[in-house]
Amino acid sequence: MSASATRFIRRVASAPNAKHLFSSGARSGVPTKNGLLAPAEVVSPAPVNGQRQSNGKASFRRTYSSNSIKVRSVEVGPSSFLKVKMLGKGDVGRVYLVREKKSDKLYAMKVLSKKEMIERKKIKRALTEQEILATSNHPFIVTLYHSFQSEEYLYFCMEYCMGGEFFRALQTRPGKCLSEDGSRFYAAEVVAALEYLHLNGFIYRDLKPENILLHQSGHIMLSDFDLAKQSGHPGGRPATIHQSEPNGIPIIDTMSCTADFRTNSFVGTEEYIAPEVIAAQGHTAAVDWWTLGILIYEMIFATTPFKGKERNDTFNNIRLLPVHFRDTPRISSACKDIVIRLLDKDERSRLGSRSGASEVKQHKWFAKISWGLLRHTRPPIVPAASNGADAMNFRHLKESNSLHLENQTGLRTRASPSTAGYDDGMDMSPGRDLFGAFNSVTIHYDGES
Ligand code: AMP
Repeated sequence: MSASATRFIRRVASAPNAKHLFSSGARSGVPTKNGLLAPAEVVSPAPVNGQRQSNGKASFRRTYSSNSIKVRSVEVGPSSFLKVKMLGKGDVGRVYLVREKKSDKLYAMKVLSKKEMIERKKIKRALTEQEILATSNHPFIVTLYHSFQSEEYLYFCMEYCMGGEFFRALQTRPGKCLSEDGSRFYAAEVVAALEYLHLNGFIYRDLKPENILLHQSGHIMLSDFDLAKQSGHPGGRPATIHQSEPNGIPIIDTMSCTADFRTNSFVGTEEYIAPEVIAAQGHTAAVDWWTLGILIYEMIFATTPFKGKERNDTFNNIRLLPVHFRDTPRISSACKDIVIRLLDKDERSRLGSRSGASEVKQHKWFAKISWGLLRHTRPPIVPAASNGADAMNFRHLKESNSLHLENQTGLRTRASPSTAGYDDGMDMSPGRDLFGAFNSVTIHYDGES
């Protein structure tokens, strides 16, 4: 079967509330259309770092004040674009390849249905995703150019990652895996992206090959911030740690940026979930270092280390089993060590939990990496050359309900009595403009007018 005809099973971020996991077998969470369970959010009664105001309403950060990012009132709308084809489907939305009429440029447009977000209580997540994308300016994080809304939809107009999904690139390789050196390269780019996110007070929480996209050059771009968590206002400050060696350069402690909050939401993707999330004891940015350990293992061995037959077997393995390495492919002792240290079930002693990315970067497995030159290193996988519009690095998807960008109007959705309910701290009272907090903006980056 040809690679394009092969159907790969993408793992979705969805899991039941851990409290019910090992007891009666009861399923919690919100059943979704496709029969999956939407994660049940367990919000700690304490305010999440001042993120919630005294009146209980969520307050959102507006920290677009970077020298390199200029945020303006939105300069486009749905009808500024022509749809070329559908690129992918996410948990709540679809992503289209679109062409801007004025500039002829290609973009990836994520379109989220407001109706579905209200029904599935995912409004807060979309707002967080917009916030993270709009505040991020990093080579390994997908770039957001515009966000806006119509009566029915929210739109994120992003950089089009022509190289397609890293997940698909892995699946179509011989053995569905990479060499240790290749894995180190991608792991290093992921560490750089996580470092940036943590510095800005965000925990990613859903690292997996499905959420890594490839730029045309083959460098990674982290996408899908649906499950990311934002710390308070503002995120904690990075601290510096002075090393014991006489000439040791002080290292930056990124854990301090997110250390002031602990979250209880039971979210993530089954095989990638950290033990503390399963234990529902609350978790910190250390979950991202756990998922990095799983990712490194998967890139090398083409499977995850704790995968069981059923979900509960997987969770039991995650909680109890030590990491087992197969004999083939043979890997270095440094590689085994970093995987074991990242997959430490005790988050307090896990690699990265002391000072964050700096600690991970200093592990001997990364000794070969020139961190400053990562962007200039040729990636192990260089995607097939594409003219862009052919979307040749994407699987072919049929669209059942066609979206008409031209027909969208700019009205907003107000909460009705039936929408009243719980959406992770959202005020859902009747009459409230549920999407009023969604930022309609155009973002200009370095050197752009
Ligand atoms: P998401 O909803 O973010 O999980 O995206 C769903 C799918 O859409 C991804 O798995 C990709 O196939 C595709 N996709 C999302 N964002 C982009 C992008 N910026 N460039 C190209 N494809 C994308």
